[in-house]
Amino acid sequence: MKGLIRRGAERVARVLFRPLEERVQSQHKRLIGKLDRLEKRVDAAIARGQAEARLLASRLDGRAATARPRRHGARIPRQRDELPPAAERRTTAGIPAERIVELQACSVCGSGAFTPVCEFNRFLLSETVPDLDAMRADYALCHCCGVVFARRRASGDRFRYLIEHFEETIGRVPASEQRGTKLLGSRRLGDEERERLRARAGQPMFVSEVPRQKNRQHLPMLLRDRLAVAAHVEVLGSLLTPREPRVLEIRPRFGAIGGALRRLYGGETYALPLFEAQQLIVREVYGTCAEHLLDYDAFTIPYPGAFDLIVANHLVTHAVHPQDVLATIRQRLAPGGHLYLYNEPDERDFLESGKSIFNTLNPFHLQTFDAAALARALQSAGFDPVFISHHHDNCIALARVAAEGAAMEPMPARERARRVEQYVQARDLGILALPERLRGLFASEWEMAVQRAFVAGTIDFDGDGNLRLLKR
Ligand SMILES: [Zn+2]
Repeated sequence: MKGLIRRGAERVARVLFRPLEERVQSQHKRLIGKLDRLEKRVDAAIARGQAEARLLASRLDGRAATARPRRHGARIPRQRDELPPAAERRTTAGIPAERIVELQACSVCGSGAFTPVCEFNRFLLSETVPDLDAMRADYALCHCCGVVFARRRASGDRFRYLIEHFEETIGRVPASEQRGTKLLGSRRLGDEERERLRARAGQPMFVSEVPRQKNRQHLPMLLRDRLAVAAHVEVLGSLLTPREPRVLEIRPRFGAIGGALRRLYGGETYALPLFEAQQLIVREVYGTCAEHLLDYDAFTIPYPGAFDLIVANHLVTHAVHPQDVLATIRQRLAPGGHLYLYNEPDERDFLESGKSIFNTLNPFHLQTFDAAALARALQSAGFDPVFISHHHDNCIALARVAAEGAAMEPMPARERARRVEQYVQARDLGILALPERLRGLFASEWEMAVQRAFVAGTIDFDGDGNLRLLKR
């Protein structure tokens, strides 16, 4: 009887206490879950703290960061495991594989001593590329003249393909998809289009804005170009004493420099424009002989006689064989003749501005340099630099044919060390600024790039402890 009552009481107690027990157990489980999560957060915070401490220590070891507060840009993942895998790239096919030149020596001065500084050109950023080889340039800094040259470059049919796809290659809307005639574009002109352009080019260039004429047909770009290049006419007229000079313009935009020189000093003008639309303008507007187009790969001057002045736009930057190009120009200059280079981009454009090196160096940028390296490049090709300066941040250079045997002073070692370091920083910044889909390409060196950029002061923590690019 006693036992019966005890068992009954126990059963009742079990029934009564079961919900309580279950509640205790579930609370216990929740508590453990909470502790687990807390532990993970503490671990993550410690890891973040340690990583921050390492970064801060590396900056203390390096130079002091800039004191000026700067605006924050994109967030930078700290570790490679935060990077998404690199996106697959589409290829357009159709680009001839032949041929890729692989240089073992500087394209300008021929020296075999160089330091690799950046392996990719702008195709790195494109979702669609002609083929995977097209984005490799393997830029290297020559220890002698100091020019940075693409060790891998397209030549022959492969180069011609890139020129025929000029707009895509430099990251613009393809010529086939553009509306209207682009005066600087690569598109071939149909008969009707040519006639229309000829008629418009024949209109007066100086059209007053006030009073405004109706149905104006002139090409406003021509006056803008004429005013823009007037600076070069000023330089040439001030530093030279032209008397009826024979002038050759290489890749003129529209031929305004040659036109102005002939108007002011007499003489004859010839031109090698890059594309057909420009060729038509050079002839129609400025009456310059422009029978032939420029070939950056197989460069020749297919006009007879010697020239007193050769004026070249974007030449050293884009020449596939710059040593040959400069030698050809030197041969074709009259004794005492001059070469004038303009619109040669200065490497400061991406080394000091915070712009992406990959975005700046499009596949036609085969040489890049500063003013000192450009002067040495000219010396190495047998020219005496007369005047080296800048116009609108691009290098300009006037050089005279030098006597045979004139020598080039090689780049000082300190200058080389400074520029190599600047290129490392620019490449790191280019990597960290990549769109997310491409960051995975640099997973193996991501943490090092983050650390170097932090030391260089190009990235920093925001108020929430995230690393961010610093805007200039
Ligand atoms: Zn060199």
